[in-house]
Amino acid sequence: PSVPDLEALQHQDVARLLPRPGAESDKYRRGVVGVVAGSARYPGAAVLAVSGALRGGAGAVRYVGPAGDAVIAAHPETLVHAGPPEKAGRVQAWVVGPGLGDGPGAGTAVAEVLGSGVPVLVDADGLRRLDPAAVRARTAPTLLTPHAGEAAALLGVPRASVEAGRLAAVRELAERFGATVLLKGSTTLVCGPDAEPVRVNPTGTSWLATAGSGDVLSGLAGSLLASGLRPLDAASCAAYLHGLAARHATGPGAPLTATDVAAALPAAWRDAT
Ligand code: AMP
Ligand code: MG
Repeated sequence: PSVPDLEALQHQDVARLLPRPGAESDKYRRGVVGVVAGSARYPGAAVLAVSGALRGGAGAVRYVGPAGDAVIAAHPETLVHAGPPEKAGRVQAWVVGPGLGDGPGAGTAVAEVLGSGVPVLVDADGLRRLDPAAVRARTAPTLLTPHAGEAAALLGVPRASVEAGRLAAVRELAERFGATVLLKGSTTLVCGPDAEPVRVNPTGTSWLATAGSGDVLSGLAGSLLASGLRPLDAASCAAYLHGLAARHATGPGAPLTATDVAAALPAAWRDAT
């Protein structure tokens, strides 16, 4: 039988996939997620990515980068580390990119986490100058989470051509990088590296078109990766929860902030399970 092109993500799939701590669980067994994000110019992206990671099911979040003071002020439960990612201690998955800026340190940070043997999510500034060969050479899976502009830059095409052919674009990126790709936007698509249907997230709302909401999503998806979900499932469950959280935060419809979306994630989990 031929594989369908697209499938809508179903509530029962998400309910089955979301991790729950067993009676014998502890914070390490739940998974530790590392977040490499933020810069002197964009400390808030680090705070927002950590806020999503803390509410994504992992047992602990390690933050690596220059925005440790801002992260601790907002989220005192975070383990912060100022040195390179390799020295931060063990993690089960890395998130790299939100607010890294375009300084030389950004490329180094991306290369370092790509060199690790654990799943890596690359978002935002981490997607600049991302080398397909370096991603393809990895032994552990990689998840890319571009919006249309970032996807266009990765493919070397105008943004309008991604907008006009989102399904083709997400497939092309997954193929080129040998990675799972979550393409954000008015409809969020998730494509794995193998011949599986592309998943469409049904929960999104255009109130999510607000600064920082993508940073919350990347932390959330990284946390699900650290708790052991494979990238296609981590990415699709994250998009599903992110949309539900936005619907909680916006109610019948009102402007929301990325911070509001993160705060509504526990309510989204209760809806989803
Ligand atoms: P970013 O562009 O990285 O800040 O991410 C924006 C987030 O908001 C992603 O999760 C998008 O899928 C979501 N988003 C942006 N615009 C829309 C829209 N018009 N409808 C639904 N979701 C959107
Ligand atoms: Mg973004």
